[in-house]
Amino acid sequence: MKSVTDLATLARFILSSDCQSIVILTGAGVSVASGIPDFRSPAGMFDTLRPELIPFLKTATERQRKLMALDPTYVVERGMFLENSFPYLEVRRPFILGVRDKKWKPTIAHHFASLLHKKTNKLTRVFTQNIDGLTYAVNLPEDKIVSVHGTIGKAGCETCGQDMDFKNFCAEVETKIKDIYSPDLGPKESNHILCQCCGNATVKPKTVLFGSSLPTEFFDKAAQDLPTTDLLIVAGTSLVVSPANSLVNNIPSDTLRVVINNEPVGQELGIEYGTNTKRDFFARGDCDKVFMDLIDELGWLTDLNGETNNLPEASVQLIKAKLRR
Ligand SMILES: [Zn+2]
Repeated sequence: MKSVTDLATLARFILSSDCQSIVILTGAGVSVASGIPDFRSPAGMFDTLRPELIPFLKTATERQRKLMALDPTYVVERGMFLENSFPYLEVRRPFILGVRDKKWKPTIAHHFASLLHKKTNKLTRVFTQNIDGLTYAVNLPEDKIVSVHGTIGKAGCETCGQDMDFKNFCAEVETKIKDIYSPDLGPKESNHILCQCCGNATVKPKTVLFGSSLPTEFFDKAAQDLPTTDLLIVAGTSLVVSPANSLVNNIPSDTLRVVINNEPVGQELGIEYGTNTKRDFFARGDCDKVFMDLIDELGWLTDLNGETNNLPEASVQLIKAKLRR
């Protein structure tokens, strides 16, 4: 009988023959240690689109500015983007170029996925709700990753779907899009980035705008992976955004579910907390810390320590402290 009561028994289950297929669902919490802004949630958007910046979005109409002041997520709304792509590109400029320049490093949680794949070959998929691209920054085959809400690290046209090389797109952003945060960095006025295929000024990072449908890949891979999943790890997500949160119920009824988070989540979806749960285990804490402890229980801490040049400094210190004990 599989029963997980702590990270040690979880590690044993992962390494056992009972566990052949592992799916991971991640949210903003796994990227916190990287220092990257959470630029999808309303709270994160309020951080990046501070009200005092809105007057600098000179291309926006009065109506658009009012709507953004009320709710900054309006800037990532599809209708708004198709009307006028400048506010979105101006707000996102430092993040697009920061992703290109690898300004933010993947965390221990991201490295866990690549270690799991390398060491056990049991990682079926990482479904990430994050658009920060950090899941791609560890040594993991791209087909192991489903970016539920798209990713900022690729570019394409919102009108016709044509891909644009990300480096070329970034070069255009750098020379054509005004930096509203540091006006000295970019051009004085924004100029359109045109799609080579349809000619519209609707090229952007391949993230899912509010009001757009999710990539079909999400539904295809979920249908393919979930019936045979032995372990679902839910990390750093509040499980309030559907349909990503449907993963916790679209698995067999005896599949183990592990929640790694600072607080319990998903009770309304049926995840159980307390001493009598049969299939759910809650590892409370920061994602970086819990994943490091799990990696330690799996005996992979030395491997993780070998990745220190691709980890944030705070994570490196966490690993060094663990190794000293
Ligand atoms: Zn196009």
